[in-house]
Amino acid sequence: MTKTPKFSRIVEALPPTVPFVPPEEMERQFGRKVILRLGANESSFGLSPKARAAMEQAAEESYLYGDATSHELRTKLAARLGIGTQHLVIGSGIDELLGLIARAFLDPGSGVTTSEGGYPTFNYHVEGYGGVLHTVPYRSDFYNDLDGLARSARETRSRLVYLANPDNPTGTFYTADEIARFRKQLPSDCLLILDEAYVEFAPEDQIYPIDPDDPQVIRTRTFSKAYGMAGARIGYAIAHPEIVQVFEKIRNHFGVNRMAQAGAAAALEDVEFLRQVVQGVKKGRQEYEELARKTGVRAIPSHTNFVAIDAGSKENAQALLEALWKQGVFVRAPQAAPLHRCIRVTIGTPEERRQFAAVFEKIMQTSPTS
Ligand SMILES: *Cc1c(COP(=O)(O)O)cnc(C)c1O
Repeated sequence: MTKTPKFSRIVEALPPTVPFVPPEEMERQFGRKVILRLGANESSFGLSPKARAAMEQAAEESYLYGDATSHELRTKLAARLGIGTQHLVIGSGIDELLGLIARAFLDPGSGVTTSEGGYPTFNYHVEGYGGVLHTVPYRSDFYNDLDGLARSARETRSRLVYLANPDNPTGTFYTADEIARFRKQLPSDCLLILDEAYVEFAPEDQIYPIDPDDPQVIRTRTFSKAYGMAGARIGYAIAHPEIVQVFEKIRNHFGVNRMAQAGAAAALEDVEFLRQVVQGVKKGRQEYEELARKTGVRAIPSHTNFVAIDAGSKENAQALLEALWKQGVFVRAPQAAPLHRCIRVTIGTPEERRQFAAVFEKIMQTSPTS
C-alpha cells in the first residue's frame, strides 16, 4: 500500500460521503438512461433568451478573466433589492457560499444546528471545516420545527443555524412573521442562515423583509432554480457589510466565471420570463397535487419548483422511487424520518408532467400504496 503524506485531522476524520450522486453517475452505475429528469429541481423551463444571448457574447470573451468583484451584477442586484453593493457577495452557487460561511464562522468543534434531513451540502461543508452538527427532526406535518431549532441553537451554543425557506426537500414555507419570531428566539452570538434558493416562488408579500444591517442573518439566493441557470453556477448572499468584508479574505475571487456573471445580469432584467416560469411552475404544482389526490396519496403544499408527495410510509416511498427509476424517471426520496415517507418531484414542462403522470398512475394502479 502506498503511504501518502499526512492529511489534516479534520479531513482524516471525514466520512467518505458526497452530498448527491448526480443523475449522470446513476445512469453509468445502473446502465439505464434517465428519461425524465425530475430529481434535482433544475428548471425544466430553461433560461431566459436574454441571459442566453448575454452568455453567448461572454463566451467569446472567455479568454479574459471575469470581473472578480462582479460589479455589474452586484449593482443591479443592489438596486433591485433596495440595498447597497456592500451587502452582497457573489459566489459560484449557494453551495459555494455555504462553504464560505462555514469557513468564516466555525472553529473545529463549533456547534451548528440544522433540520434532520435538511439540505445536505450545508452539512457537508460544516463537517469539512470541523463543525459539529446538531439536528432537529422535522415536525410530523413536514414543516421545519422552528421552536426546536431555536432551542437546539441555545442549548448547543451553536454558531450557525440553517433554515431553507421555502424549504427543500418539503416545499413548505414560513411567512415573515413566523421567521421574525424565530429570529428573536436565537441567542445573540448565533448566525441564522436563511437559504432562499426558491424565494422567487414564494408569495412576495410574505417574504421575511431584508434588513441588510442585521448582523445575525445571512440570506443565500441563486440563479439555479427559477432563473434556470444551475449549470452556470452563480448565486449570491445578502449579509451585513462586515461579514461581506470577511468573505473578501477567503473567497475564490475569480471563481464566478464571465459567462455566469453576464447571464445572471441579463436574467435579472428579464422580468417577464421569470414571471412566466413562476406561473408555469404554479400550474404544474396544481397538476401534481391533483395527480396525488387521484392516486390516493397526498402532496405537501409547496412554494417551490417541486412537490413532495407523501406515499404513506418509508416502504411505499422506496418502492415508488424504485418503480419510477425502472421506468427511467429520476426523482429523489429523503432518507430521514418523517420525510422518508415522501418522494420529491420537480415540476416539469407540461409534456414532462404528462409523461410523469402516465408512469405514476400506472405504478399506483399496479402496486397501490396502502
Ligand atoms: C438547489 C439548492 C441549493 C443550491 O444552489 P446552487 O446555487 O445551485 O448552489 C442550495 N440550497 C437549497 C435549499 C437548494 O435547494
